[in-house]
Amino acid sequence: MKILKLPKEKLDFFASVVQQFGEVHAPVEQDGKYVFQRLSRWSEARLDYDRTILPPKKYTLPPRETLFQYRAGQGYLPSTEGLDKRIVLMGVHACDVYGLNLLDQVFSGRYDDPPYQTRRKNMAIIGIDCRPDGSCFCRSMRADFVDRGFDLFFYDIGDYYLTLVGTALGDDMVLATGPLFEKASPEDIDEYKRRSSSKRQAFQLEVEIRDLPEIFEMEYQSGIWDELGEKCLSCGSCSMVCPTCYCHDVADDAQLGSRDGGRNRSWDSCLFAAHAAVAGGENFRNSRASRIKLRYYHKHRGFVAEYGRPGCVGCGRCIAACPVEIHIGDVIAKLRGIQNAPSR
Ligand code: SF4
Ligand code: SF4
Repeated sequence: MKILKLPKEKLDFFASVVQQFGEVHAPVEQDGKYVFQRLSRWSEARLDYDRTILPPKKYTLPPRETLFQYRAGQGYLPSTEGLDKRIVLMGVHACDVYGLNLLDQVFSGRYDDPPYQTRRKNMAIIGIDCRPDGSCFCRSMRADFVDRGFDLFFYDIGDYYLTLVGTALGDDMVLATGPLFEKASPEDIDEYKRRSSSKRQAFQLEVEIRDLPEIFEMEYQSGIWDELGEKCLSCGSCSMVCPTCYCHDVADDAQLGSRDGGRNRSWDSCLFAAHAAVAGGENFRNSRASRIKLRYYHKHRGFVAEYGRPGCVGCGRCIAACPVEIHIGDVIAKLRGIQNAPSR
């Protein structure tokens, strides 16, 4: 991997050059929170953000999309709208790159998904390092550093960004900017290591994941799930904001008496009361306790069995979004027999 550095005062020029690779999107402040959106000018970008409301999955798996349409006499018409749009997403944190890498595995494996894959292929990722707040535990989830899934990744080392070049596209971006990037010196590497070590000390929240799938196995009948079911509102906010949740509903949009229609996909949540309802009136997860339990088991046991790592990257969004303050760190601590999530 190539390691370079970019002077911070040249970042806006860099952003103007990478427009040739696609629409530039970055975190922007809205009412005190942050959202990824298209920039109309570089000064809107807030690279010092904590976390965006929605993760980058909104680009690869949009909240609602038409998969295909059908017309009498024309048959099946695949929907390609927006699929060829090229996006350069700037300022993505390591946990969110990790989230995308996990979704890539989901949508490129057993569930081969061409619309997802096309959007992902057309999206360049420029990562940026961050400082953890009280809800971040990406270090515990081994997602505070990524070595793949980005084109460029910037680390703040004072007057410069130490830059990891992750792909040939990232290399093209560097070349397109002319002599903007410089060779990193041994002193720059030392500064990177010093800051990386200081970041490790800055985490306030720790979640122990060693033997967690086994603990989940042992606690399947725990009363904790009923307690959570009493508290949870089934609002689904935790799933919507999660970078690795991908439950979706697929439904036809057909008019009575017409032979035309379309098939749409929209985000769903395993927390919603109707998620496991089937024809005939049966609902396999009627109680809120069974639904919240499923979400935790899928993240911390199912994902490990299927993909070799948990389906949580420790971004803290579900902690920030839950209206009744259900805290993933506290849930795991209680399953371990500890009262609250340990802070460092
Ligand atoms: S479960 Fe919560 S902390 Fe983990 S990745 Fe999802 S939103 Fe982030
Ligand atoms: S955000 Fe909280 S209340 Fe809403 S479904 Fe998730 S755990 Fe339940």
